[in-house]
Amino acid sequence: MAFVICEPCIDVKDTACVDVCPVDCIHPRHDEPQFALAKMLYIHPDECIDCGACVPACPVEAIFSLDETPRHWSSFIDANRRFFE
Ligand code: SF4
Ligand code: SF4
Repeated sequence: MAFVICEPCIDVKDTACVDVCPVDCIHPRHDEPQFALAKMLYIHPDECIDCGACVPACPVEAIFSLDETPRHWSSFIDANRRFFE
């Protein structure tokens, strides 16, 4: 796993990160059925290529590298992984 979306994305999910991800590993997208129900977006832990392009695109600073994910948001590491199980 490389990058993780954390709490600030909840109820924002403006998909700015989706637009800049070169490998389309952030879901659900607007055109996916889960989008309406999802509270936030998630990064696929195996498909992310660790490029960092999504970090400055996020208006609420919700995205962190795995190593820099704040301790109080560590549960989001599993939350991103679980979305794709
Ligand atoms: S850019 Fe930030 S707030 Fe917007 S969907 Fe991505 S992680 Fe969520
Ligand atoms: S770090 Fe790069 S590959 Fe990974 S989710 Fe962000 S934009 Fe996509």
